[in-house]
Amino acid sequence: MPELPEMEAWRRQLDEPVAAFPIAKAGPAHVATLKTFDPPLSTLEGRRLAGARRRAKRLLFPTEDGELVLLVHLMTAGRLRYLRPGDKGPKTPAFRLEFQGGAKLVLTEAGSKKRAGVWLLTPEAAEGELAHLGPEALGLGADALGAICAQESRRLHSLLRDQKVIAGIGRAWANEILHHAKLSPFALSRDLVPGQVQGLATAIDVELERGLELRERGANDARTYRVHDKLHEPCYVCGTPVARVDYEEHTVYYCPDCQTGGRILKDRRLSRLLR
Ligand SMILES: [Zn+2]
Repeated sequence: MPELPEMEAWRRQLDEPVAAFPIAKAGPAHVATLKTFDPPLSTLEGRRLAGARRRAKRLLFPTEDGELVLLVHLMTAGRLRYLRPGDKGPKTPAFRLEFQGGAKLVLTEAGSKKRAGVWLLTPEAAEGELAHLGPEALGLGADALGAICAQESRRLHSLLRDQKVIAGIGRAWANEILHHAKLSPFALSRDLVPGQVQGLATAIDVELERGLELRERGANDARTYRVHDKLHEPCYVCGTPVARVDYEEHTVYYCPDCQTGGRILKDRRLSRLLR
């Protein structure tokens, strides 16, 4: 799933082009993709977007007149593309906006399961839709993170991925961040000493900034990640082969030497914990 660095890179790319021309035609939209019916999509037609904004892993496209917000959540397999006039697009997009002059904003989703979503909302309704999200991960800072860690004792990998607590991080960047901070994915948040909280806050910023810079240059997953999905590859710090453990419904990658004092972590699948 695209996370904060990927979404922010897309937002920066889309910000100018989506505001260049008014919308000529809104839709079609796949019945499973469009989550709202009132106001109807056609109310977008003739209006101009103010640009692209982002909140957590969602993109927001407010209209210039301040009356409507188009909210897009790509989930795992959704992709958003801006097509210039004449560019070839998919035959059956999950969602499409066509601008005057012929450019298009197109949402596609690989696979048969439609999870990506598009909402057309008033600004107030959009605020409500986003109200459950925690503070943005990038720039969170040690004080706010320290307060979050002290609230309840959570395993760090799970805590970082919880959008209600910290918004924007998923499993891939949780792996990168915890490795950078030299913390075990299974460490409990309340056990962190102030120096470790500071280190984790720094790791969040450094890793998300690194990801954003790479994604803006078009780097693929293999070049962007250094720990995530790198099973048996040498750790970029110490050379120890990267290990993997199943946790909840996720696969966690870590360096046993840098993060767990040489210990190999045991599987903690949710299904097993529930038994
Ligand atoms: Zn290492």
